[in-house]
Amino acid sequence: MKQKVIIIGSGPAGLTAAIYAARANLEPLVFEGIQPGGQLTITTDVENYPGFPDGILGPELMDNFRKQAQRFGAETHFKNVDKLDLKNKPFVVHVGDERYESDTIIIATGASAKLLGLDSESKLMGYGVSACATCDGFFFKDKEILVVGGGDSAMEEANYLTRFASKVTLVHRRDSFRASKIMQNRVLKNPKIEVMWNSVILDMYGEPDRGGLTGVKIQNTLNKESFKMDCDGVFIAVGHNPNSDLFSNQLDLNEKGYILTKEDTSHTSIEGVFAAGDIHDVKYKQAVTAAGSGCKAALDAEHYLENL
Ligand SMILES: Cc1cc2nc3c(=O)[nH]c(=O)nc-3n(C[C@H](O)[C@H](O)[C@H](O)COP(=O)(O)OP(=O)(O)OC[C@H]3O[C@@H](n4cnc5c(N)ncnc54)[C@H](O)[C@@H]3O)c2cc1C
Repeated sequence: MKQKVIIIGSGPAGLTAAIYAARANLEPLVFEGIQPGGQLTITTDVENYPGFPDGILGPELMDNFRKQAQRFGAETHFKNVDKLDLKNKPFVVHVGDERYESDTIIIATGASAKLLGLDSESKLMGYGVSACATCDGFFFKDKEILVVGGGDSAMEEANYLTRFASKVTLVHRRDSFRASKIMQNRVLKNPKIEVMWNSVILDMYGEPDRGGLTGVKIQNTLNKESFKMDCDGVFIAVGHNPNSDLFSNQLDLNEKGYILTKEDTSHTSIEGVFAAGDIHDVKYKQAVTAAGSGCKAALDAEHYLENL
C-alpha cells in the first residue's frame, strides 16, 4: 500500500512531524531507527523544553512525544531505513527486505554528537558528562569542568560555560587550535579558562548513582604520561555527524553533510521530500527547534499533498 507520509527518525523533529501529520489524517508511518526517541534518550534532566516547569527526563519526554503521535494514529516501527530511492515518484523506502512507497518523505535523522567512545563516557552521560553546553551548562554553577575540543564549537562552549563554572579547563590533543583566530583569542583572554595542550582523556571516574562524575584520567600525547584530575563535569565539543549517508547522492547537502532546505521552509532539493531537525540545522541543535521544524515539515508535506 502506498503511504502519504513516511517519516524517518523519531527524535523531537520526527515525532512532532508525526503528531501534526497524524492530526491532519495523513496516517504517517514512522521508522524510528537505531535510537528510538533520538538523542534526548541518552540524557537525564531536560530543563529547557517548554511546558515542564520542573524539568523532565529525556527518555520520558520522548515517550510522551511517541504516545502523543500514536494517539492520533501515527504508526511507529523500531526499524532502520536501509535505502531510499528519491529519483522516481512515489518514493521508495527499503527497510530490510520490506519495500514501502510514499508520496512524501520527511527526513529527521538528526546529527549525532561526536563522542570520545569511552565506556565510562556513555555510562556517565547525563551524570556529569555532556555534549551540549546550552543544554547543561546551568547544572554546573561554581563547578570545575573540562571541555574537550579545539574547533570553533569548543571555543564557544568553553566561553559560554564560564558564565556558570568557577573554572574551565580546555583539553586539546594538539599544540594549537583549529578554531578561527577570533574565537581562539576570546578563549585565551578569558581568565576563567586554562588550556591543557597535547592532552587527551583516557578514562572517566564516578558512578551515576553516587553523585556522577568525579574526575578523569588524562594523558599527555607527547611524553605519554598520564595522571588523574578531579572535576565536576566534562563537555565533549568535538562536533556533530549529520546522519545523511542514506541520501548523500540524492539530495543537495552542504559541505558538512547537512541537508540544504529552501529559505525558511523544510523543502529539500527534491519536491515532496522534506527535512526537519538537526539534520538540516547547522546552528541551533535544540529539542525545541527540532520539534518546531518537525511541525513545519508536516505542514509543508500537507500542503504539497493537497496540491498533488
Ligand atoms: C547528551 C545530550 C543532551 C542533550 N540535552 C538537550 C537538552 O537538555 N535540551 C535540548 O533542547 N536539547 C538537548 N540536546 C540536543 C537535542 O537532543 C537535539 O537537538 C535533538 O534531539 C535533535 O532532534 P532531531 O529529531 O533532529 O534528531 P535526533 O534526536 O538526533 O533523532 C534522530 C533520529 O533519527 C533516527 N535515524 C537515524 N538514521 C535513521 C535511519 N537510517 N532509519 C531510521 N531512523 C534513523 C534515529 O534513530 C533517531 O531516532 C542534547 C543532546 C545530547 C547529545
